[in-house]
Amino acid sequence: MGVLEIAKGMGVTLGKLFTKPVTVSYPETPARLQPRYRGRHILTRHANGLEKCIGCSLCAAACPAYAIYVEAAENTPTNTLSAGERHASVYEINMLRCIFCGMCEEACPTGAVILGNEFEMADYKTRDMVYGKEDMIVGVEGSKPQRREAAKNTKPVKRGFVVTPRREVEEAINANKNRSSSVATIPGSGVGVKPNLELNEVKR
Ligand code: SF4
Ligand code: SF4
Repeated sequence: MGVLEIAKGMGVTLGKLFTKPVTVSYPETPARLQPRYRGRHILTRHANGLEKCIGCSLCAAACPAYAIYVEAAENTPTNTLSAGERHASVYEINMLRCIFCGMCEEACPTGAVILGNEFEMADYKTRDMVYGKEDMIVGVEGSKPQRREAAKNTKPVKRGFVVTPRREVEEAINANKNRSSSVATIPGSGVGVKPNLELNEVKR
C-alpha cells in the first residue's frame, strides 16, 4: 500500500469527522422512520364502523411464515361485526414468526389488514408476542409492553419514533377517527344494521 492510498483513506476518515452523524441516541432521541416502513399490523374498519375483515383466511394462506390464525363466525342481526356474511371471531398474528413481508396485505380482498409503522414490540413472554384483534384494531396505539407501561403510569403511550405514515395507513386512521358508529349500512347493499362495536372497541 502506497503513501497515496493511506492519505486517501485518512482523507475519508477526516472528512467524516466534520459531518453530522446519521445515528441517533434511540430511544431518548426518536428515530425517524421512512413512510414505507412496514411494522405492526392494523385491522381497519369501514367508515360506518364495521370491520373490513370478513374472516376469509386468505391472509393466513398467503403468509409464508404461518404467522396468522383466523377463526370466522357468522354475522347475525344482533351481532354484526363486519360488512360480510362472516367476521373474524379470532384474528391473531404471532409477531415472533412474522417477517413483515406484507403478503397478508396484498392477499386481503377487503383491505382489512395493513402494515403500520410500529415496531417496538419486544416483550418478556412468548405468549405476549401473539397479537389479537384488540391489539391491532385501528385506533390502538402502541405495542403491548408500551400500553402496559402507559397504563401503569397513567400516561399516554410513548413511542420512540416519528413517521409520516404512508397513504393507506393515514386513510385508515383518519377514517376511524371520523366514523359514525350509531347505525351502519353494509357497503354496497343498503342494508342497515346495528354494528356490535363494543367488542374490540377502542377509545378514540
Ligand atoms: S407480514 Fe408477512 S409474515 Fe407477517 S403476517 Fe403478514 S404475510 Fe405473514
Ligand atoms: S384480513 Fe383480509 S384476508 Fe385476512 S381474514 Fe380478514 S378479510 Fe380475509
